[in-house]
Amino acid sequence: HAESAVNGADKKKVIVLGGDGFCGWPTSLYLSDQGHDVVIVDNLSRRNIDTELGCDSLTPIQSPDVRVQAWKEVSGKEMKFVNLDVYKEYDLLVQLIKDEQPDSIVHFAEQRAAPYSMKTSKTKRYTVDNNVGGSNNLCCAVIDSEVDAHIVHLGTMGVYGYGTSGGEIPEGYIDVILPGGRESNILHPAYPGSVYHATKCLDALLWQFYQKNDNLRITDLHQGIVWGTNTPQTIKDERLINRFDYDGDYGTVLNRFLMQGAMGVPLTVYGTGGQTRAFIHITDTARCIEIAINNPPKAGERVEIFNQVAETRRVRDVAKLVADQTGVEMNLLPNPRQEAAENELDVSNRKFCSLGLDPITLDEALFNEVTEVVQKYKHRCDPTKILPASFWNKKRAEECASLD
Ligand code: NAD
Repeated sequence: HAESAVNGADKKKVIVLGGDGFCGWPTSLYLSDQGHDVVIVDNLSRRNIDTELGCDSLTPIQSPDVRVQAWKEVSGKEMKFVNLDVYKEYDLLVQLIKDEQPDSIVHFAEQRAAPYSMKTSKTKRYTVDNNVGGSNNLCCAVIDSEVDAHIVHLGTMGVYGYGTSGGEIPEGYIDVILPGGRESNILHPAYPGSVYHATKCLDALLWQFYQKNDNLRITDLHQGIVWGTNTPQTIKDERLINRFDYDGDYGTVLNRFLMQGAMGVPLTVYGTGGQTRAFIHITDTARCIEIAINNPPKAGERVEIFNQVAETRRVRDVAKLVADQTGVEMNLLPNPRQEAAENELDVSNRKFCSLGLDPITLDEALFNEVTEVVQKYKHRCDPTKILPASFWNKKRAEECASLD
């Protein structure tokens, strides 16, 4: 199943919602390279948020039109780009699904930064409206269009609450004994740590409902923190380069450290760095999506849930890896987040591994790739944007301010 679609047997029509983003763009290229027919949908809201925050991708990402044209020149393959808002343009979404008749719809089109979701009431409300409204629209649009498309959604490890249940986190469902003694297997309890993570928990309930009510075929991928920049496809032409976020709101932890290491500035570790997180390389994100679209649940089967992670590491251990390699120091900052100082995290990823994924791990020296990218474009970095700019609550904001 994990084999590519090049020989045509498994060639699928795939709509990639959010296909201009950090995960969506390399995934679109990978799927196209594997022989699938890809339609990219994006409302460019992520680019607009960069403008709002006064930041930009460290790498010089090109406009969607230039990207798609460059891919055609490099690979000979066509991809369509459609500028459409999944939350605000429902009728256009239904029409697109009717016109394209996709086999699968990959849904990356959400506001994905926990810090940004916690910034102000405005960003909290936007994140809930956009993410939950978009997912609900997608289910309604699949039903209204009468196209039996398999929905593949990007969830997050954060729905589980980072190991609060103790023991290994299973893939989506847990065995429980209900009051009265009856045994059951239910969705893992949701325990979000930010408004953003709360939207992914609400999404999971929507998937469960629409699967049960309308027989939709849905896969939810609870992904770890993605690291890396380029993939074998994005590296083929500079115009295909992937987004690299380094700012306090959107820069995810390992990429932020690699960037700081390459710049020779201290690594910003929040709290004790005792938080354990799950990680996955961007190349494996794309591979996992193809495995998921090649293995849809059957009609009537409950929502398929995979943990899309390669490994778990403590944040201070990841920082030490980067510090040892680059010689920069670690700088322990007050934590802007409301969270446990230390946590254990043990995650099952058996489903993807059994379907052929051999995940890339942090030991595989791919740090060099990110370091090269950062060295090449560090003149584009605005160092004032690296420190945390969003705080979970007033107490966290005050603690961070008092230690300035
Ligand atoms: P991103 O912000 O780079 O990409 C998301 C894309 O969706 C953007 O291009 C944005 O413009 C678009 N978008 C947002 N709302 C939209 C709407 N209403 N209509 C149309 N387009 C819209 O984020 P990413 O890092 O590529 O993440 C993609 C998905 O993967 C998200 O759902 C995120 O929660 C999930 N995820 C990401 C990570 C990570 O480390 N990056 C980890 C776990 C899960």
